[in-house]
Amino acid sequence: MKVYNTLTRSKEEFKPLQPDNVRFYTCGPTVYNFAHIGNFRAYVFEDILRRTLRHAGYNVTQVMNLTDVDDKTIRMANEEKVPLKTFTQTYIDAFFKDAAALNIEPAEVYPAATDHVPEMITIIQSLLDKGLAYTADDGSVYFKVAAWPAYGRLARIDRSELVSGARVAQDEYAKEHVGDFALWKGWDDADGDVFWDAPWGRGRPGWHIECSAMSTKYLGNTFDIHTGGIDNLFPHHENEIAQTEGATGEEFVRYWMHCAHLQVNGTKMSKSLGNFYTLRDLIEQGWQGREIRYVLIGGQYRQPLNFTFAALEAARAALIRVDSFVDRLNELAANVVPGLLPLWAEEGSAAFDAAIFDDLNTPEALAALYGIIAKGNNAMQEGKLAAPEAAAVLDLLRRLDKVLGVIFFGRQTGVDIPAEVQQMADDRALARQNKNWGESDRLRDAIAAAGWEIRDSKEGQKLTPRS
Ligand code: AMP
Ligand code: ZN
Repeated sequence: MKVYNTLTRSKEEFKPLQPDNVRFYTCGPTVYNFAHIGNFRAYVFEDILRRTLRHAGYNVTQVMNLTDVDDKTIRMANEEKVPLKTFTQTYIDAFFKDAAALNIEPAEVYPAATDHVPEMITIIQSLLDKGLAYTADDGSVYFKVAAWPAYGRLARIDRSELVSGARVAQDEYAKEHVGDFALWKGWDDADGDVFWDAPWGRGRPGWHIECSAMSTKYLGNTFDIHTGGIDNLFPHHENEIAQTEGATGEEFVRYWMHCAHLQVNGTKMSKSLGNFYTLRDLIEQGWQGREIRYVLIGGQYRQPLNFTFAALEAARAALIRVDSFVDRLNELAANVVPGLLPLWAEEGSAAFDAAIFDDLNTPEALAALYGIIAKGNNAMQEGKLAAPEAAAVLDLLRRLDKVLGVIFFGRQTGVDIPAEVQQMADDRALARQNKNWGESDRLRDAIAAAGWEIRDSKEGQKLTPRS
């Protein structure tokens, strides 16, 4: 498997430190609002990475943090006059619900920043002890970039420009140099009752230190992969390296992987520009989670991707084609033991693997899937696909979909099911795949309220009208 390593700016053969377990860290959401689908481009890319690693035979230990304390979360919790934890919980719940709708596999650990402040204090203390950090008059602690020669290696920026006495912004007067960044922010009135007591004073951690503390706690001082959107590259990831390697004296991360932005009309989708859609906006408009996922994996992750409704329409059409292929195979292969794969399916499978193991080339992998569908439809048209072969092709699709996560298996044919009921059944199938039993039960009740009963069987879900 090859991945593009931002650190070396080249595609490299991927080799984990432990032969059978890949440890990777993903910068997670700041939970002050609903994530937009630009954010979800990053999380879906990371999900494809996780699934591809498993497809390659590795176990995966993935950690994704929840940033539940920063300027914005504190300000908004104060505005709403609720405790910080109460305020952020709403958006944490929403994040998991949206991730499930996009069929994102859960990470192994979701540490919250507010539960790991002692670990952050330990790292900061070690940096202070080593002379790599200093305290300022306002009780803040800064990393001293001038004392860390390797600074700028990931982002390829010239450290001398950062430390050569450039004027320090007025509101950050306490820093010695403009490039220095906060490890700890001294308490002030705006923080209210949000503070922790550290040996050097009262305050709260900076954003970058969170990721250093939570990644090394769960993955060790050195681990395999660290991911994020390209906007995280600098300063966030550069700072993570400096403070972690500064404290541990060991290499932090082997492979850095970054996805390009989701754009709208050529501009980054972002909250501050107001040009964003949340997942719930789109689902309210009648789009399925998997259609949105399909759009997000329609481009290779390092290429900018433009979000359009035309792309959503195209995703819907493409998935209908996949569904009807699966339906035909299901009919042909009902209760049949899988036989050998036809040659064209073997070739399609090899093309899929070649694409996905080449730095997660999802558009090429989807093209391989479409090749299989075209050949399979022809074979069925000509009556040349035997039942055991159809069953083998279905198994192959299941394997490929362990990576893609967009195909529904076990849909019913021959029953006229209203679209909204089918949609709920499809969502329920996804919820069950993700072991989200609460959501599964909720959907069962909603389906019942719409006059249908849903039962689970080995072949999948079965819908029957309630008498
Ligand atoms: P944030 O909550 O702003 O820290 O962002 C969470 C994740 O979403 C980070 O990995 C960002 O790099 C990523 N991200 C933000 N906007 C976009 C976008 N338009 N396209 C792709 N990724 C994004
Ligand atoms: Zn991070």
